[in-house]
Amino acid sequence: MVSTVSVSDASTGANVHGATGCVTIDLSALGRNYDRLAATVAPARVAAVVKANAYGLGIERVAKILSRKGCRHFFVAHLSEAMDLRPMLPRDAQVFVLNGLQPGRETACTEGGIIPVLNSMEQWRRWSATARSLNHTLPAVLQFDTGMSRLGFPPDERPALAEALRTDGHVEILFIMSHLACADEPDSDQNGEQLAEMRRIAVEFGGFDTSFANSGGVFLGDGYRGALARPGIALYGGAPTTGAPNPMEPVVSLDVSVVQVRTVPAGTKVGYGGIHVAKRQARLATIAAGYADGLPRSLSDRGAVYYEGVRLPIVGRVSMDSITVDVSALPEGTLTLGSFVEVLGPNQTLEDLARDAATISYEILTSLGPRFQRRYR
Ligand SMILES: *Cc1c(COP(=O)(O)O)cnc(C)c1O
Repeated sequence: MVSTVSVSDASTGANVHGATGCVTIDLSALGRNYDRLAATVAPARVAAVVKANAYGLGIERVAKILSRKGCRHFFVAHLSEAMDLRPMLPRDAQVFVLNGLQPGRETACTEGGIIPVLNSMEQWRRWSATARSLNHTLPAVLQFDTGMSRLGFPPDERPALAEALRTDGHVEILFIMSHLACADEPDSDQNGEQLAEMRRIAVEFGGFDTSFANSGGVFLGDGYRGALARPGIALYGGAPTTGAPNPMEPVVSLDVSVVQVRTVPAGTKVGYGGIHVAKRQARLATIAAGYADGLPRSLSDRGAVYYEGVRLPIVGRVSMDSITVDVSALPEGTLTLGSFVEVLGPNQTLEDLARDAATISYEILTSLGPRFQRRYR
C-alpha cells in the first residue's frame, strides 16, 4: 500500500513503515509541468500518458492531479491499466489503450467505456463487428505506422482502411495518431520523414484531428503538435530533448538510508568479485537499495549518491539489496545508521543517474521498486 506522510517527515527521513528508501513525488511540480506543456502547445490540447503506473509514480495520484488541471485524455498501454484507471477519472475523460484491441477483449472494452487505439485492419474488423452486434457506433482512435515499425496500420493496409471508412459507419474515429521514434533528437532526419508521412496520411484520411507529439515532439516545433500532444516523461520531470537543458521541473526524488558504516585500510576489496580495491584508507557506507529496487547493476563502480551536496562515489558492484559508497569526503561521524543519502534530488537528476547507468530516465523511473515507500507532497 502507498502511504502519504507530511513534508516534515520527508525532510527528517523518518517514515511510518520503517522503509529504508523513499521516493518523494512532488504533485505540484507535476501540475506545473502539465501547465507548461499546455501553454507550449496551445491551442492544441495535452493528453497524459500514464502507462506503467504513470511511469512508476502512482497512477491514482497522478491522474487525480492531471484531471484537476483539466486533462481529459489519458493513454495507457494495456486494457487492464485502462480498467483500473477509468473509475478514477471524471465521466467526460477518455481512456485510450495504445497497444490496441486484443481478441476476445471487445466486450470488456465496451463495457468498461474504454477506447481502443486500432492498429490494424484485423482490429478494425473486430471493433466494427462488435459495434454492429450492439447496434450502435463505437469510438476508436486510428494509429498509423509512420516509420517506427512498432504499432499502427502499416502503409499497405491504408487502401483497405480507406475503403472501410467509406462503407462502414459503425466505428466513430475520434482522431488519428502516430508516434515518433527519435523525438528526443532534434537533429535526426527521421523526425522530418515521419512528419511528412503523417501529413500524407492526414490528407489521405482527411477530416480527422491528429495526435503526433510525445514529450520530445512537443519541443520539435509547431508542425509536430497536431491537435493533441501525448507527453509522458516530460510530465514526470524527465528531459524531453537529449542533451538540451531540461525545461521541465523535477518531480521525483529518491533518498536511501545508510545501514552500515566502516573504515577500511588501503588495499581492502569492496563488494562482489572484489572489483574495487581501496587505494587509501577509506570510510565506506552501505545503503539499503540495490538492483532489486531498480538501481541498475550497471552502476557498479560508477556514478554516485549525494549527502548535503557532497558527492559520494559508488564503489564495487551493486548488490541486490545494497550499494556501497565511499563517504571519505564527509567528516567522520556525519553519516550514521538511519541517515539518508540522495540518489535522485537537487544534486543528481534522473538524466545524471540514467547516464551513469547507461540507460534512460524512463527505465530508471519505471524500475523504482515496491520496497521504496512513496510519499506525495
Ligand atoms: C509512451 C508513449 C508516449 C509518451 O512518450 P514520452 O516520450 O514519455 O513523452 C506517447 N505516445 C505513445 C504511442 C507512447 O507509446
